[in-house]
This record gives sequence, C-alpha cells and structure tokens, in this order.
Amino acid sequence: HADIAMYHAKQAGRDNFQFFIPEMNQRAMERLHLEHDLRRALERQELMLQFQPQVSLKSRLVVGAEALLRWRHGAQGMIPPDRFIPVAEDSGLILEIGDWVLAEACRQTQAWRLAGLPELRIAVNVSAAQFRRPTIIRSIRKALEASGLPPRLLELELTESMVMTEAAALTRLNELRALGIRLSIDDFGTGYSSLSYLKQLPVDDLKIDQAFVRDISSDPNDAAIVQAIIRMGHTLHLSIVAEGVESQEALEFLAENDCDSVQGYYLSRPLEGADFERFVVTRGR
Ligand code: C2E
Ligand code: MG
Ligand code: MG
Ligand code: MG
Repeated sequence: HADIAMYHAKQAGRDNFQFFIPEMNQRAMERLHLEHDLRRALERQELMLQFQPQVSLKSRLVVGAEALLRWRHGAQGMIPPDRFIPVAEDSGLILEIGDWVLAEACRQTQAWRLAGLPELRIAVNVSAAQFRRPTIIRSIRKALEASGLPPRLLELELTESMVMTEAAALTRLNELRALGIRLSIDDFGTGYSSLSYLKQLPVDDLKIDQAFVRDISSDPNDAAIVQAIIRMGHTLHLSIVAEGVESQEALEFLAENDCDSVQGYYLSRPLEGADFERFVVTRGR
C-alpha cells in the first residue's frame, strides 16, 4: 500500500495521496464519462482539427502542416488529445475518429489547393490501433478519393514503437507507400529503432522529438544527438523535420546543421483552418 500511495503521490505530484483509493475511482469514472461523451462527439461535431505550419529551412516558406485533433467538449471546454486519445484507443473509437481525421485533413488541404493557396502537404497522426488494421488502406483511399487530394500531399506520422513491435509492420508500410503517400516517423529518438532496422523501412521523413530540440542551444548533449540524427537520417536519404522549435537560437542551430524543416511555437502554434490560411498568405507560403 505504501508503495502504491508513494507511486500515486509521485504521479499526482501533490500531497493528497492519502485519498488515493477514492481518487482512483474518480479517475475511472472520469474515463467512463469521457468515453460516453466521445461517442457523441463525432455526431455533435465537437471534434476539429488545428494545423501547425511546417517551414522549410532552405526557402523559409511554409511547405505544409501537421493536423492536430481537438475536442471542444460541450461542458468541459477544450480537451487536449493526450487526455482523450488514450480513451479513444481503449474503447475502439479511435478507428472511427481516425477515419474522420483522415477525411477532414484531406478535405481541408484540397480546399486550400482549389482556393489557390500554394501547394501544401498535410501530415496526419495515426495511432497503433489504426495502423494495425488492414482497413487503414481503404480508409486512406476513401479520404483521398472523396477529397481529390493527390496522394503525394498526404503524409502519415507513425511512431517508432508502431513500426518496431508489429511483425507485419513492414508489410503495412509497403502497402501504405504503394498508395503514393509519404510516411514519417514521429517523436524520433524516444524509441528503440536501430540504424540497421531503420535502413530497411520505406519511410520519407524523420521527426526529431521535441525533447531533444527544446534546449538544443544550451544543452551540448541534445545538440550532439540532434546533429547525429540529422547526419544519420541524411545518409539514409531521409528528410529531417525538427519539432518543438521554440526559439530563434534553436531555429538557427537547426539551419546551420542542415535540418530540412521545422515546426514549433517559435514559428506558430497550431492554428484553426482560417487562421492557418491567413498565416500562409501573409507569410508567403
Ligand atoms: P505529436 O504528433 O508529437 O504532435 C506534436 C505536439 O507538440 C502537439 O501537441 C503540438 O501542439 C505540440 N507542439 C508543437 N510545437 C510545439 C512547441 O514548440 N513546444 C511545445 N512544448 N509543444 C509543441 P498536441 O496537439 O497536444 O498533440 C499531442 C499528441 O496527440 C500528438 O503528438 C499526437 O501524438 C497526438 N495526436 C494529435 N492529433 C492526433 C490525431 O489526429 N490522431 C492521433 N492518433 N493522435 C493525435
Ligand atoms: Mg505528430
Ligand atoms: Mg511528435
Ligand atoms: Mg507525441
């Protein structure tokens, strides 16, 4: 019991660990409520996407965006994805939600294209449960066909653990690649990918995890890791995206070290569609 209480105190980071049992029940209840509400969120149109610009370091132009899922809960306001995506995964709702994200991201990007905006690529996060199912192929094909978006403008973001732990991962990656879309490894550096394994993966981009990027200009270890990832990635003909760029110093370090593109609060927070459009127009793609 003492261990559990200690553990919980650590998790909560507060001094109210003596109430750990009722509080755990309350957490379970909260999850149940979230799951219940999430089932209705789709039909109530409470889910929306925000778009975070990705900027090329060569041209300094916006070359694309990452679509990030948001839930505008009727009573609780904005619920961040880190809180509801685990619930969606456990309940299986992630499949339906994931299909909506794919369709909406493709629709919006094609709408910008037709409106005359410069050509933009859209990156969509997929969860392990989606990736595991063969039906993901049909979902992507449907999203592309319904929107008319060329496949080369869609990129899927996968994590290292997804491509490392599934025996069928390589098959799935090749199936996805055959659709003509791009693939990227998200949060790179936090998992266990070996160089030799990475070499055989049919992926296009590596996204360096923000944990290594944040203090890049002050922490020599982080700087060395990022330099190594960029060099190694380029050797494998991968394009490197750094996420979590929060300062001018970080941006310049990445530019000097040949990183290909960047994403982060220093450039822009994730934006609602109309604001993203304005950002692209005023900044010059
Ligand atoms: P991620 O894919 O690694 O997305 C990057 C996260 O970092 C986003 O958080 C973004 O808002 C945040 N971020 C961007 N720039 C900066 C910065 O400069 N500093 C800091 N501190 N943070 C920055 P967000 O939107 O809360 O998303 C969290 C995670 O939720 C995502 O991590 C992704 O794993 C997941 N997620 C988001 N949308 C979806 C989705 O549609 N489907 C799935 N399966 N997962 C999603
Ligand atoms: Mg991502
Ligand atoms: Mg990431
Ligand atoms: Mg993440």
